Amino acid sequence: MPSDAFWEDLWKRESAFMAAARPEFRHGVSFVGVSDIAGQFYCEYKVENAVAMGEIPTETKETGTRLHDELVPGVSITPKAFAKLVSRKVPSYAVLGVWGSVGGLRIIGMPDHIVWAGGKPLWLVELKTTKGDPGRLWDDQAVQARIYGLLLYTMGLDCSELRLAVVRVKADELSEDEKKRWVRKVSGALMGGKVARLESEYRGAVKVHVMAHDVPAALASIGSKRGYWTGEREPTSSTSAAKCRACEYCQVCDRSLARTPS
Ligand code: SF4
Repeated sequence: MPSDAFWEDLWKRESAFMAAARPEFRHGVSFVGVSDIAGQFYCEYKVENAVAMGEIPTETKETGTRLHDELVPGVSITPKAFAKLVSRKVPSYAVLGVWGSVGGLRIIGMPDHIVWAGGKPLWLVELKTTKGDPGRLWDDQAVQARIYGLLLYTMGLDCSELRLAVVRVKADELSEDEKKRWVRKVSGALMGGKVARLESEYRGAVKVHVMAHDVPAALASIGSKRGYWTGEREPTSSTSAAKCRACEYCQVCDRSLARTPS
């Protein structure tokens, strides 16, 4: 189990990491978000457009954020309380910001949910709401979970028993009661090896995509996208008209493959 000294050192290293930041990456950013690297796997030009034109609000995004907050509510606690909570022998639920320098990038992110015991992260869980088929796992979603796992590892946490789960949910189909119990139900199913039972209980509205914690795969994902941030290359764009049709920048993006002629 990590000692008090480990946690104190972790918070000190985090402060030093944040304090050393400089606006050295594309668009003058000091940190690259895990979600932005994941987003590059959908379309790098979408990441570029988000900076150039700003985020375009959509009903899907707003609904997703609201449902997300309902399913994974949280309260802030102190670093000391966090260390105490996650060090218990019984499973505990708590998230922390993840950070690290990888491939020359200064990367930060905030996972949705982590199950801990004995100071070790056991399950890193990403929640993805969808109106479509929860059975499909997209590359960007898998990459995001893997990079969170990598950063937990580079922060010095014991990831020897860590596994990853991307949970895709048709949240509109969950009752209010099911939403309230969601975190406990999913965590319990993962810890107890009862994922199939959970999926059948939620009548096809939930799919749990379990993945291994895979450091080499996460490093490779970052390695393939880092050049965009360091200025070594320009952004690529989608080669799929279907992706462009589903993209909120479809009608304003000069690389769109599905723009409607005006
Ligand atoms: S419209 Fe297509 S090319 Fe443009 S940002 Fe969206 S997905 Fe990428």
